[in-house]
Amino acid sequence: MGIPSRKFAGRIAAVAVAAAAVAAPFAPTAQASQGTAPHPAWKTWQTSAQDAKADRAFFQAVLAVAKKKQLAHPELDQVTVTYDNQAPTFSTSIANSTRIWNGAVHNVQLQESGGGGDFSYYEGNDPRGSYADTDGHGHGYIFLDYAQNQEYDSTRVAAHETGHALGLPDHYEGPCSELMSGGGPGPSCTNSQPDANERAQVDQLWANGLAKVSASLMR
Ligand SMILES: [Zn+2]
Repeated sequence: MGIPSRKFAGRIAAVAVAAAAVAAPFAPTAQASQGTAPHPAWKTWQTSAQDAKADRAFFQAVLAVAKKKQLAHPELDQVTVTYDNQAPTFSTSIANSTRIWNGAVHNVQLQESGGGGDFSYYEGNDPRGSYADTDGHGHGYIFLDYAQNQEYDSTRVAAHETGHALGLPDHYEGPCSELMSGGGPGPSCTNSQPDANERAQVDQLWANGLAKVSASLMR
């Protein structure tokens, strides 16, 4: 289940070598946590308390930085969440995800940062697939797995993981029309657009700046 399919092995190795030359060293706790409970890998097609915990910790990390910035501009009703792209292989997918989300919701907008972003995208090989988590130092990140991005639509993967940055939980049992159903509907599902309900959830979560979203985390 957790092993990347062999037919992509050659391409993956080539991509990995190329990426290793340009990518910043990726050493968050993801490596250290191997052997513990599995991460939110699409391949499991199921959510668990552990996955949901990591997703929530990630969202809280994103929120903590966004909150600091918002304090400087309390008059704004729209929050801008910034990110660093350290996943050069997936720049197109990430840009697509940003465009999709910025067109889909109003109360929060994504913007690429030249450094010091609210969260980061990384890339690499991980048998658990792609996931969102924190690095143990309060910084949230999205990890994009080479094998999974070959098997599944890469923009869907990026937009799904970015959905966690905006506060959405997994819903693997949902249909392909939902972004947060992730790998649930299988690799043939290439939908990369959040459905109306997902859009409404994000806009509601980020309504009136950060007041509401902060309150929701207190519950
Ligand atoms: Zn997910």
